[in-house]
Amino acid sequence: MSSVPDGKKLVRSPSGLRMVPENGAFNSPFSLDEPQWVPDKECSRCMQCDTKFDFITRKHHCRRCGRCFCDKCCSKKVALPRMCFVDPVRQCAECGLVSQKESEFYDKQLKVLMGGGTFLVTLGTSEKSESMACRLSNNHRYLFLDGESHFEVELSRISSMQVLTEGSPPGENDIHTYTSLLENPYISEGGSSRATGMILHYKAAGSRDLQQLRMEATDDKKTASAWLAAMHKAAKLLYESRDQ
Ligand SMILES: [Zn+2]
Ligand SMILES: [Zn+2]
Repeated sequence: MSSVPDGKKLVRSPSGLRMVPENGAFNSPFSLDEPQWVPDKECSRCMQCDTKFDFITRKHHCRRCGRCFCDKCCSKKVALPRMCFVDPVRQCAECGLVSQKESEFYDKQLKVLMGGGTFLVTLGTSEKSESMACRLSNNHRYLFLDGESHFEVELSRISSMQVLTEGSPPGENDIHTYTSLLENPYISEGGSSRATGMILHYKAAGSRDLQQLRMEATDDKKTASAWLAAMHKAAKLLYESRDQ
């Protein structure tokens, strides 16, 4: 392979400058494509407030959804790291809110994930587990697990993820549950329940069989719990973009 896997280049799009991987195959799994803009001739009114466009009321496209708005409804410039924009770009109110939340993920959780945590890792149904350092790769595409051995899980090949929690969602007493990731609002949003582990199902490179990986927090439970909460957010972003 001749290219540098993590090499990046600047490209100019109608919406602004973007910093993207030199090789598209190395795109971050969190990245989103730029939307098609609604053609000018198909919109004569603001898609939010219904104001008619004319020489004074100009139309603007939201860089995230590609829909057409007046200046008032699309004036905010918000960072949009998922589309690799270097600077904040114009977005409608709805998209601006989503992007703001995602920026938090980029500023905080992504760093936690790349910083890593230590877990007791069990492969498949093996009786043996190993203490391993687990972190997200710099290009966000792999989970690297390092102990006596090294292996990696490609994020795009993860088919399901469950978070193991301890403690209680409001109204329940101490329980240990396997929680389907997307249905649990308690892990990252306060509550008294804390993520203590995770079960992943994934397909290893070149294989079509599902493998299971179980990770449990060991010594540094606080770091591990923050890492799992960040992984929970990451999975939400991944699932949402798969749905789009
Ligand atoms: Zn408007
Ligand atoms: Zn929008």
